[in-house]
Amino acid sequence: MDEDDTIEGTQVSAELAADVDDQGGEIRDTDIVFDCPHCGHGLVIDYRGAGLVITCVQCGKPVQVPIPEGMHLSDLDQDPENLRKQLGNLRTALRAAEDRERDLVEELAELRQRCEDLDRENLQRLHRLAELRAACEHAQRVITESNNILGRMFDMIQSEIEPK
Ligand SMILES: [Zn+2]
Repeated sequence: MDEDDTIEGTQVSAELAADVDDQGGEIRDTDIVFDCPHCGHGLVIDYRGAGLVITCVQCGKPVQVPIPEGMHLSDLDQDPENLRKQLGNLRTALRAAEDRERDLVEELAELRQRCEDLDRENLQRLHRLAELRAACEHAQRVITESNNILGRMFDMIQSEIEPK
């Protein structure tokens, strides 16, 4: 299989995570096979990835690799090379989590700003409506007053035609 294709888009432990469908018959007894809890996509990873947070090759969400029953993380730590690799992966995971946190904080600030903008727009709209309502009320008063004057004028005309 093409190693580069299957790990595309993975940020964490990229060299360990792979797509179970692309794995063909190459799954080893030591591999951990599991489904992404977010999208259900089948994933396969070397046993040394147990307990690590990886990025799903399908949906891109962070996924913690399950630790197989009977396996202890300390089993992995006996080999200094593996230990170094684990540490490297954890550092990468930490960095990715920090990046994600920064993105989310930025996103939150943008959403708050958008909320404030909408509140302000809404307030301005309410102000305009109140102004329009006041103008309508004024027009209504003028019309009523004009009707009253017209009525009085008709009465005066009538009393000139038919004096009592
Ligand atoms: Zn997924």
